[in-house]
Amino acid sequence: VGGDGLAEDVLIETQDGDFTAIVPNADDDGSPRLEGVVVPGLVNAHSHAFHRLLRGRTHRLGGDFWLWRELMYETAAALTPETYEVMATAVFIEMAMAGVTTVGEFHYVHHQVNGSPYSDHNEMGHALVRAARTAGIRICLLDAGYFTAGFGDTELSPVQQRFRDPSPEDWLERAAEIALAYTGAPDVTTGVAPHSVRAVPPEALRTVARRRDTEAPVHIHVSEQPSENRDCEEATGTTPTGLLDECGLLGATTTLVHATHLTPDDIGLIGGSSSRVCYCATTERDLGDGIGPAAALADSGAQLCVGSDSHAMIDLFEEARGIELHQRLATGSRGLFSPANLLRAATVAGSQSLEFEGGLRPGRPADFIVIDTDSPRLAGFDVGHGLDSVVFAATSADVRDVFVGGRQIVTDGSHSEWARAKWALTGSI
Ligand SMILES: [Zn+2]
Repeated sequence: VGGDGLAEDVLIETQDGDFTAIVPNADDDGSPRLEGVVVPGLVNAHSHAFHRLLRGRTHRLGGDFWLWRELMYETAAALTPETYEVMATAVFIEMAMAGVTTVGEFHYVHHQVNGSPYSDHNEMGHALVRAARTAGIRICLLDAGYFTAGFGDTELSPVQQRFRDPSPEDWLERAAEIALAYTGAPDVTTGVAPHSVRAVPPEALRTVARRRDTEAPVHIHVSEQPSENRDCEEATGTTPTGLLDECGLLGATTTLVHATHLTPDDIGLIGGSSSRVCYCATTERDLGDGIGPAAALADSGAQLCVGSDSHAMIDLFEEARGIELHQRLATGSRGLFSPANLLRAATVAGSQSLEFEGGLRPGRPADFIVIDTDSPRLAGFDVGHGLDSVVFAATSADVRDVFVGGRQIVTDGSHSEWARAKWALTGSI
């Protein structure tokens, strides 16, 4: 609890979904005991639920990010509102069992395969919210804008048609409608997600900056691959980050996803504007993206969070330590991030990037997890070393109990809906 240390014999009280008291060194008053390390619920700030269907099915083909993307498009083409909901339900339950209490779903499969809208044009978005509710986790639905296949207004390919709205104005109106549908819901927030500077032209980025709800999150993929930077500089004379700055889109409610290939100027712009950066280490290594300058960004003032993105695996401990371990590979130095800072990226900072509140404090939503320190990985756990072994050795398999809004959704590693839901991950839908 708090800082880098752990407190013992902590009494946790909740009421109406929020923490009301957190008291270290409390006397045993006969309340039910949770044995293990309790930390805030994990926050998966960047997810595309349907990418889970690609897990374990793309490795033999070789190739690069762009070939993987073709396979992902084939998977996207098969989704209907019904299959999307059952598949996302299974993915969100997998997340719940991994200790994730909040997901940021970057949602771009919102139209039919031929590009026409569904009769309720937010049908796919509602399916994702229902899936999160069945799993019992909170969701920030980040509705994505997608208009071009590359710089210079290049036409979308047939498989990309279902990602697009007729115009940026239509997209923002559709996003505003789904935001309105969940106003006041404690388990749902919404934001907008211009997909990338490849897919959203500068005029449309300016429209987003002008028309956005200033409190609502904006998420965008930035500089995941070197070719995005090359194409952007050729077309606009600046980097993707420089372009976002010119369009007025950097700031504390903006989260840049990946931020892998950055210049020193980019780092200054991101830190100077207190923008957020979401690293997705397991996806970035899976797709050969490269290693982003996480330590320089944190030093310059950027807040870091994490996401499992393509769901090559869902393990937020691995995402959090991935930030530090990738920096070790890149720099030859250890200890650039403290375990507390890494855990913060996977919890409180993620909540903030999705317009939720996190953390073990009275008044905050009672989202917390219990990590089993008697597991094979954590056996020998020493409370004197604080969070070190939790952050550097725990895996999602060590999450034993999960609470969202004070309600237990995972008990002893099990979720009541998992057996019914998991068939949807066989790829046969
Ligand atoms: Zn992504």
